[in-house]
Amino acid sequence: MRSLRSGLLARRSWVCMQCRQASSTSVAAHNRKTKLPDFPARTRFAPSPTGYLHLGSLRTALFNYLLAKRTGGQFLLRIEDTDQKRTIPGAEKRLYEDLQWAGLQWDEGPVVGGPYGPYRQSGRTSIYRDHVHDLIQKGHAYRCFCSAKRLDTLARHRSQAGLSPGYDRKCADILHEHAENRAAEGETHVVRLKVEEYPSFEDLVYGRTGQNRPVKKLDFIDRVYDDPILLKSDGHPTYHLANVVDDHLMKITHVIRGTEWMPSTPLHVALYNAFNWTPPQFGHVPLLVDKSGQKLSKRNADIDLTFFKGKQGILPASLVNFAALLGWSHTSKSDLFNLEELSKIFNLKITRGNTVVAFEKLWFLQKAHAQRIVSNGGSELDNLVSNISNKVKTTIPEKKLSSVLKSRTLSELITPLLQADAKSFTNASEFITRNSTFFTPDLKRPTYTPNNPYIPIQSLHTAAAALTLVPEPHWTIQTHKHNISIYDGGSTLLEDTPPTKGQDAEIAHAAADKAFKKELYNYLRWALSAGKPGPGIPETLAILGREESVRRLREAMDLTVDKGAINPVTARRAKEREAKRKAEAETQDQSWMGSLAPRS
Ligand code: GLU
Repeated sequence: MRSLRSGLLARRSWVCMQCRQASSTSVAAHNRKTKLPDFPARTRFAPSPTGYLHLGSLRTALFNYLLAKRTGGQFLLRIEDTDQKRTIPGAEKRLYEDLQWAGLQWDEGPVVGGPYGPYRQSGRTSIYRDHVHDLIQKGHAYRCFCSAKRLDTLARHRSQAGLSPGYDRKCADILHEHAENRAAEGETHVVRLKVEEYPSFEDLVYGRTGQNRPVKKLDFIDRVYDDPILLKSDGHPTYHLANVVDDHLMKITHVIRGTEWMPSTPLHVALYNAFNWTPPQFGHVPLLVDKSGQKLSKRNADIDLTFFKGKQGILPASLVNFAALLGWSHTSKSDLFNLEELSKIFNLKITRGNTVVAFEKLWFLQKAHAQRIVSNGGSELDNLVSNISNKVKTTIPEKKLSSVLKSRTLSELITPLLQADAKSFTNASEFITRNSTFFTPDLKRPTYTPNNPYIPIQSLHTAAAALTLVPEPHWTIQTHKHNISIYDGGSTLLEDTPPTKGQDAEIAHAAADKAFKKELYNYLRWALSAGKPGPGIPETLAILGREESVRRLREAMDLTVDKGAINPVTARRAKEREAKRKAEAETQDQSWMGSLAPRS
């Protein structure tokens, strides 16, 4: 039995050789095209706490995150705080908050830990020193005791002669034991990498990059070399050393970073070679520029995330979606993706050349994500509602608010309002301003101006009163839609001006009904929201709730009573009709539907 089962299982999973080859070739071909590795990538975001997360660095973090998630790998966070002097207090904490706000939770790094920590470079000084020691032993690095004065003079002479900067490798000639003794005695020095060549490398975005540039330059002053500093005189590593050592020890397979780091990459590859390590794969993402081709800066919106989060009220999903589209192309029909969807389709088809940032797209995505969040519900909707609630509480006086809310909670008002208004959503403040009439009982209506002065105001009062007969449990958008649609405005009008002989009664009725409904909408919008554009009338009635809607309609009636009567007969008939309707409503228990039925 057991062997039969395992035989079946084996047979089920058996794939013929040709198919297996075909499928593995197609996966390989797909991966070649999309430049995705066929193993789980380990990526990292390595910010320096010398500034905050901005649009460009959010994109770098995001691409690294997505590559790791797409391939089932890990995304690391490493704090590169080697430049202690430029470190901004609080920047590290803000980085964590901003990354988490965007949903880019790291698998290894500060706070969460991991097997290759510590993940803050200031805690790894001894690791760098040990590695530099190794390089010195192997002859790939040397101690340089040149004084600042000597280096200054050298630099000045070279600059005066119009030559590029460089070091003459004076200290490379010091005997190893001699140099070690001087260091042991505490003589101030740095450690330099002995670079013979800057190798070219294969960039995932730009292809083969660099020219295997030899670094030895002979000019009329002396031999000069780059020989970059690895360890500073205070014993701390430079960015290059720490970055390479950490990427290797943390088993990083892919380094996705901005093109501003591209000139450093040949040096990094030289360092990998000196250590005899395999470098990770590098992919440099293009610069972000504004519409006039200027590099994005503080002046033209490469502002830190606080601006987008706080001032502009951008939703995390919208900003992540926007950042993902900066330089990355996909084949889906729509540009609308949340983080999870991006994690499934991301690849390394990244465009070369500068990426123009057009903020109109951000607002388009914002509206689209707001609608999605509203229709999906769940925690994202709860967050959005509570965000708006907090803003409402700080902008609308408590008394006004409680007067419209009556027995409802603020989120019970905001949720349906958001559902009706999501297509226009930009941010909480704008939402509150646009929908201000829902948050206050003081409507400040302008004088009512009918579009069609031939429709008696009393008939509008009657229709409005009829709508309010709906009892609380049935006070829904659907009921109001239905009731408005079946309300027979045609009869109301034709009662006063019946069709003349020969006129098609049905056509006349339909035309009268249309004219009446148009005016009714105009009146109700004025009555309920002071004429401001916004959610439809059935939605407005439902959002305001029965009590507040009734109050507003009564108030509106008091403001317009008798004003629109065009002749005494019309006024009398309208009054009679209203009296009849009231009497009917009082006698019928289920009157809310019956009262709206077409009149005889
Ligand atoms: N610490 C560097 C930065 O601030 C990291 C560069 C890299 O990703 O190698 O951007």
